[in-house]
Amino acid sequence: MNSFRACGPIHKRVKPMTDMISLCHNQYLYLCDYNQIINSSIKDLFLENSQDRKVTTTDVPISKEILMNRIAKLPQIIFEVSANCNLRCKYCVYNNNYYNQRELSPEMMNTEISKKALDYIYSFINNRKDKTLSLSFYGGEPMMNMKTVKAIIEYGKKLFAQWELYFNMTTNLTLLNHDILEFLVENNIALMVSLDGGKENHDSKRVYTNNTGTFDTVMENLQKIYNYDPDYFRRKVSFSSVFSFDLSLIAQYEFFKTNPLIQKSRIRFSTVNTFDTTYYQSYPYKKDEFERDIKTIFSSVKAKIKNNEELTGYETYLFSDFKKIGDALKGRRHTTLGGSCLFDSRLFIDAEGRFHVCEKINHTFSFGDVENGFDFEKMSAITHDFIQTQKETCGKCNLKYLCTVCFASFGGDGKFRINSEFCRTQRQVIAANLENYIQCKEEKLM
Ligand code: SF4
Ligand code: SF4
Repeated sequence: MNSFRACGPIHKRVKPMTDMISLCHNQYLYLCDYNQIINSSIKDLFLENSQDRKVTTTDVPISKEILMNRIAKLPQIIFEVSANCNLRCKYCVYNNNYYNQRELSPEMMNTEISKKALDYIYSFINNRKDKTLSLSFYGGEPMMNMKTVKAIIEYGKKLFAQWELYFNMTTNLTLLNHDILEFLVENNIALMVSLDGGKENHDSKRVYTNNTGTFDTVMENLQKIYNYDPDYFRRKVSFSSVFSFDLSLIAQYEFFKTNPLIQKSRIRFSTVNTFDTTYYQSYPYKKDEFERDIKTIFSSVKAKIKNNEELTGYETYLFSDFKKIGDALKGRRHTTLGGSCLFDSRLFIDAEGRFHVCEKINHTFSFGDVENGFDFEKMSAITHDFIQTQKETCGKCNLKYLCTVCFASFGGDGKFRINSEFCRTQRQVIAANLENYIQCKEEKLM
C-alpha cells in the first residue's frame, strides 16, 4: 500500500519515519490506493470497509465511435475570435516567456470560418436530447473582433433555434464602448473580466503595449456596466484574478474584500504558472510570504464562517478548493486520472479554424479543422499517448486521485511528457489543501 506523507506546508508537523499527517488534535494518513484519509484512531473501522472504496484505473476506449459519442455531448465551443491582444501582460502565456505556447499574432477569425464551424458542430450534436450549448469568445482579446462575435451569435441563434444558448466572453475589458455594452446586455453575454486586485498588483502586470497599467480603465468600464444595468452586472459579470508570486496576496485579498462594486461577485483565482516558463527569472518567487499570507487569509475565512458572516466572492472561491479536495476524496472526479476533458467538455477553435482540446493547450495537438472536419485517427492517437503517459508516470504516483493533471499540463511539443515542476507544485498545493480540509472538518466548518 502506498501512502502519501504530506510535504510542503505540513512538512514540519510530520512525524519522522511515519506516514502520519499530524494536524490539530489528531493523526491522519492518506491512503492513495484507497483515495482516503483516515484518522489513526478509527483505522480499524476504515479497514473493515476499505474494499468498497478501492478505485481502479481503466483505459478510456478510443475508437471513432466512442470519440463521436463524446463529441455529441459537447457542452461548450470556444472561439478564438482574435489571436491578437491590445495588452502585453507580463505573465501572458502567449508571450515568449513560455515554452511550447502559441504567441499573440494579428490573426482574426473571419465570419466565414465561424459559420463553417457552427454548421459542422451542429451536424454532430443536433440529434441529442440535451439542447443546451455554450458559445464562448476568447482571445487574445475578443473585443478586438466584435464583427465575428456578432456573426456567431446571430448565426448560432438561427441554427440552434430550438436550443438554449449561453454566451460568454473572457475579456481584459479595456475596449468597451457604448455599442459593445448595449450588445452584451441585449444578448445576456456573461463576462469573465481579468482583474488582478488593486491598482498596484494589477498595474504591475496587466499593461498596454506601451507598458502603462490598465487598472483605471477596467474600473471605469466596470462602473459603466453597473450604471447601465446593475442587474446584468450582478448576474453576468465575474472575475478572473491571477496572482504572481512576487506580489502581495494580502493586498489582492483586501482589494476584493473591500471594493463595494465587486466584493460579492464571483471570482476565479489562479496563480502564474511556475513551470515551462522563464517568467520567475524576472520576478522573484516569494514563497514564504505567500505561505504566510494564505494562512492569514484562511484563518480570517474560518473566523467569518464561525461567526456566520457572509463570505466575499474571493473568500468563497478560496474556500471551494477545500471542498473540491473533499469531493476528490469521495471519488467524484469524473475522469480516469486527474481532471482531463478527453473531448467531451469543450472544443477550442482557433482563429484559423483548427480544432483543439481546449484553449490552454499549445497548437501542436490540433486534430482537424473546419474545412476537413475531425481527424479521428489523430484524436485517437492523442488520447492513447496521453493515457500511456499517465499510466507510466501517474499510475504509480500517490497523488493520482487528487492531482489536477490534464492534457494542457502534459502538452510538450507535439508529445506528452511529464513535468517534474508541475508535479512538485501539485504536491505542495494538495498538501496545503488537505491540511486545510482536515482542519475544516475537525472544526465542523464543512
Ligand atoms: S489580456 Fe490576456 S491575452 Fe492579452 S496580453 Fe493579457 S493575458 Fe495575454
Ligand atoms: S502529474 Fe505528477 S503529481 Fe500528478 S498524478 Fe501524475 S505523477 Fe503524480
